[in-house]
Amino acid sequence: MFEGLSEKLAGIFDQLTRRGALSEEDVNAAMREVRRALLEADVALDVARTFIEKAKARAVGAEVVKSISPGQMVVKIVNDVLIETLGSDAEPIDLNAAPPIAIMMVGLQGAGKTTTTAKIAKRLTERFKKRVLMASLDVKRPAAQEQLAILGRQVGVETLPIIAGQTPVQIARRAEEAARLQGYDVVMFDTAGRTHIDEPLMAEMAEIKAAAKPHEILLVADALTGQDAVNLAKNFDDRVGITGIVLTRVDGDGRGGAALSMRAVTGKPIKLIGTGEKMEALDDFHPQRIANRILG
Ligand code: GDP
Repeated sequence: MFEGLSEKLAGIFDQLTRRGALSEEDVNAAMREVRRALLEADVALDVARTFIEKAKARAVGAEVVKSISPGQMVVKIVNDVLIETLGSDAEPIDLNAAPPIAIMMVGLQGAGKTTTTAKIAKRLTERFKKRVLMASLDVKRPAAQEQLAILGRQVGVETLPIIAGQTPVQIARRAEEAARLQGYDVVMFDTAGRTHIDEPLMAEMAEIKAAAKPHEILLVADALTGQDAVNLAKNFDDRVGITGIVLTRVDGDGRGGAALSMRAVTGKPIKLIGTGEKMEALDDFHPQRIANRILG
């Protein structure tokens, strides 16, 4: 586990002959390496600081059991705290509501919202045998609604017929009504993004939320998001109130610190991860996988 970090910590503790309980100095030296690893993985500064305090409190005075080295002991404690912070239990999409269950997808442009909407619809259809209707509320990008329709045909999920000239709220109302009258189990709302967070985007999301009354609001965020992750997650959560996070591009070579940052500042679970462009590339969230990446 974490060969890189383990090696560094072993190096620190090798210089110490002490055994038994971990002393504060030993732990401080180790935590400097842990901090470096977190920051290299793009964990936000404040999140890294809080994390280190928590891990430190647990490590100082911990008895080192005979079978492992002090370095391994610290790695284990750090790993435990990391898993706890990331959320140790997988939290699936909540389908415990009266149909049609509304799921609203939010996030910045290019984060993977449309792709993830279709991936989730496919999963709900195939694995959970739900009848799903998807609707794109993105009237800014001319091709957005057509893009969702194409993906819908690809995964065998219906999309709301496109009517030009409607506002996002009008489309949301039409989708909700169609889902209700036609007996769909789930209605998914793919919303428009922007290149960055701004007031009009947040106002539009709040308006759509009021019309769509979503049971789940999933923030779709790129795993490669760096220090911006905190700002992104906090803004969407404060203004719209997210119920979970879907982390995309986990197949890329990012270290995944954004996952820890977003989870820590919102307390909202990471529900799913995107692992590629294909429609099958959607996985449950396994905290250990992300922990391994973060600590390298
Ligand atoms: P939106 O603007 O948020 O709706 O983003 P899109 O769904 O259009 O996705 C933007 C690009 O990212 C597309 O080329 C997708 O194929 C790609 N994409 C989405 N999710 C993933 C993922 O998990 N991994 C990879 N490698 N690419 C992804």
